[in-house]
Amino acid sequence: MEKTKCLIIGSGPAGYTAAIYTGRANIPTLLYEGLQPGGQLTTTTEVENFPGYPEGVTGTQMMDDMRQQATRFGAEMRSGMIMKADFSKRPYHVWVDDGTEVETDTIIIATGATAKYLGLEDEKKYAGMGVSACATCDGFFYRRKVVAVVGGGDTACEEASYLAGLAAKVYLIVRKNYLRASEIMQKRVADNPKIEILFEHNVEGLFGSDGVEGAHLVKRLGQPDESRYDLPIDGLFLAIGHRPNSDIVKGFIPTDEAGYIITEAGTPRTTLPGVFAAGDVCDPHYRQAVIAAGSGAKAGLEADRYLSANGLK
Ligand code: NDP
Repeated sequence: MEKTKCLIIGSGPAGYTAAIYTGRANIPTLLYEGLQPGGQLTTTTEVENFPGYPEGVTGTQMMDDMRQQATRFGAEMRSGMIMKADFSKRPYHVWVDDGTEVETDTIIIATGATAKYLGLEDEKKYAGMGVSACATCDGFFYRRKVVAVVGGGDTACEEASYLAGLAAKVYLIVRKNYLRASEIMQKRVADNPKIEILFEHNVEGLFGSDGVEGAHLVKRLGQPDESRYDLPIDGLFLAIGHRPNSDIVKGFIPTDEAGYIITEAGTPRTTLPGVFAAGDVCDPHYRQAVIAAGSGAKAGLEADRYLSANGLK
């Protein structure tokens, strides 16, 4: 069994930033990177909205930089997934997929959220070439172009409105004949002349020789008057929800109905002493790297305070 003072689960901006803080505070830190070291940002292309990179930076480069910075202050990086946790008594115990058991005084959960995709082969084929699940990340590349957003919730309406400020035209592709979004978001979309809502539409595939040039749509799927046609677009944005990666805390820490970890307002504190949450796993609203990094910093500071206050440092 391995012992540490701080275990960080997750290798996005929240996890790495937390590790920079705990490392600099001289706290022995282990960081488990999960299946996709660097997290969601490694699936995006250019990051232009993280302060400090005036020319922009690739997501992969930025995560590499954060990783190196955390390593420099002593955080130990491990590959592996945490499969199980026992938070019923202190110190806490977790189990890694290779069978390793880790005992730790503090835990920072920074496991992120995973954007949901439709499950089409073409989403993989055109990943980074016209398919995105983040308008704030990638919308800028579609200035004066034609894009489509899939979904009918608040996220889809928000993404469509954001994209309408950049693109020439935005289609909102909604599978039902109504929007699920809040009234204010619905109104915002309805009032925007650049947004056209396609109710009762589903995307069945994409086409294009060098990136997305259009989508294969089906209208009124399963109805007697079902019909198919192709819609020329330059980009497809998925906004059909996110799934927070909070399975390991279930039964120990309260989450909301969507699975986001509930923290004390404005802090990374969970209901368990010494267990903190940072980044998208507890943030259904913003989902931005800079915000995740900020909450990771808070979690690192809280871990330090907790260890000192309990004579564990
Ligand atoms: P939601 O779960 O609310 O909405 C998902 C949307 O995607 C629904 O319209 C759903 O359709 C559609 N969808 C799901 N799967 C598919 C599929 N396979 N094919 C086509 N369409 C699909 O997720 P959101 O991310 O929009 O919101 C999550 C939570 O965050 C909500 O509580 C929301 O209110 C909140 N939020 C709040 C914001 C704010 O207040 N500013 C901003 C963003 C989110 P259907 O309706 O048919 O199920």
